[in-house]
Amino acid sequence: MALNRLLKRRDLCNYLFKNNIKQISKGTVSSNKLTNRALSCTNQMTILTSTPLRLLLNHRFYSIKAAYEDDVRYRNEHNITVIGQDIPSPYINIDSSEFPDYIKSFLKKQGIEKPTIIQSQSWPVALSGQNFVGIAQTGTGKTLAFLLPAVVHIKETTGRKGLGPRALVLAPTRELARQIEVVAKDFSSLLNIRCVCIYGGAHRGKQAELLQSGVDIVIATPGRLNDFLVSNTTNLSRCTYVVLDEADRMLDMGFEPQIRQALNGVPLERQILMFSATWPKEVRHLAKDYLGKYVQVNVGSTELSANHNIEQNIHICLQEEKIKTFNSIMHNISGDGFGKVLVFANTKKFVDMLTLALKRNSWLAVGIHGDKTQLQRDTIINKFKKGNCNILVATDVAARGLDVDGITHVINYDFPNTTEDYIHRIGRTGRQQNKGVAHTMLTNDDARQARNLIAILKEANQNIPVELEDLSRSYSADKEQQSKFKSRQYGWNANRRFNNYRSSNKPSYNSNNYRY
Ligand code: AMP
Repeated sequence: MALNRLLKRRDLCNYLFKNNIKQISKGTVSSNKLTNRALSCTNQMTILTSTPLRLLLNHRFYSIKAAYEDDVRYRNEHNITVIGQDIPSPYINIDSSEFPDYIKSFLKKQGIEKPTIIQSQSWPVALSGQNFVGIAQTGTGKTLAFLLPAVVHIKETTGRKGLGPRALVLAPTRELARQIEVVAKDFSSLLNIRCVCIYGGAHRGKQAELLQSGVDIVIATPGRLNDFLVSNTTNLSRCTYVVLDEADRMLDMGFEPQIRQALNGVPLERQILMFSATWPKEVRHLAKDYLGKYVQVNVGSTELSANHNIEQNIHICLQEEKIKTFNSIMHNISGDGFGKVLVFANTKKFVDMLTLALKRNSWLAVGIHGDKTQLQRDTIINKFKKGNCNILVATDVAARGLDVDGITHVINYDFPNTTEDYIHRIGRTGRQQNKGVAHTMLTNDDARQARNLIAILKEANQNIPVELEDLSRSYSADKEQQSKFKSRQYGWNANRRFNNYRSSNKPSYNSNNYRY
């Protein structure tokens, strides 16, 4: 039996992983040598246990070089932390990268001269066939970081027969999925790669037709992909390259069951790339369950931090003063002059209310939230992108992934649910080394966020208003009083029992159920 076929068998992979067989030999073995060794060897399991598994799975396209001192210097200079084994050198420029010529000339045509920081380390890891976790902020060039290795994967390996996609990109929102599609379209006709973007809220029949006519890359939101998988419109049996973009956001939005269902349908000899802005335990569980061994690359501090090119202004006010404060921020901004302004509110109702209030003050504004149809959302975003309307009011639908040039100001009318979301929201400005300004309003109701916000401001060397420090102190004092009251009422043991009860009832992700 051909070694490759033997290795592609699900039960063999299961055997290897269940028995925790470790990669023993190091270095690169050419596939010819491997096959010769295989033929002369009577006991194939001996080879399996003494050769890097991923090599056997035919996933390594290029050799891995030892890390040179230059690499270490480059990583230190750019605040890149790498965790894992067999980590290839970063690509410091495109000419010396190991990309095939068609990718290099595509990048030249796009006017891309050198990799961004995340690309410099994710490209070589992805091309080496290893699973990858990238912790990086938005706007760092993530999309090409995973799309270009996907093209190489499709072009340089032979896929199984069938019509399903060879590569899958999962993204949390329609907007992000559409944006990834726009980037993919840049190379699809040039490199003869068929891409389809599937997302909820748009016509199902048209998307189904495209899927069934054969496709290389599917870019999908988890819900719509699940629909098509359940209805057998497509399947992932050919899909050996999977990207989870903004994994933390997808989990936040409750897509974990759909992601797991999709991943359970991809073959075992696959490569998974996961991008996340944060690294909470839910994302770690997912990585542990599906990626097994992976290389992790953190760009910047592992603690979530704000882009230092953004001036962060904090306004503490009373709930009933919010609209007045908002208007005065708008007047100040208008006085100084602005490019594009993105305003965030937490609810659809307030998005509509603020859009109306802005229009009443003769500021041309458009609003976007989940109740708008896909067509409306596309039209609104296009208007904003083209600069036909320079003020966009949005719920968190537009918080991440929205790549619009020229946003000079972000205003948080409401403070978001988490400080991570705060960083993502303000990150819509100050992209690509430009300067940006953020204004954020907080009321007493946001007191619980004050402490974390202070840490973010401190890290970014921003001014910390005394009122914010007072808000944080008042919250801590309140909490202390509450906990004294609780411990008097129930005693410590009762409290601890509650915690035990909660942790034993948490869903546990048994890795054996999901992994390989
Ligand atoms: P992304 O994080 O993928 O949304 O990319 C943010 C922006 O950076 C997009 O406008 C890309 O076109 C741009 N970009 C991506 N890679 C590079 C690169 N290597 N050099 C310059 N710009 C880039």
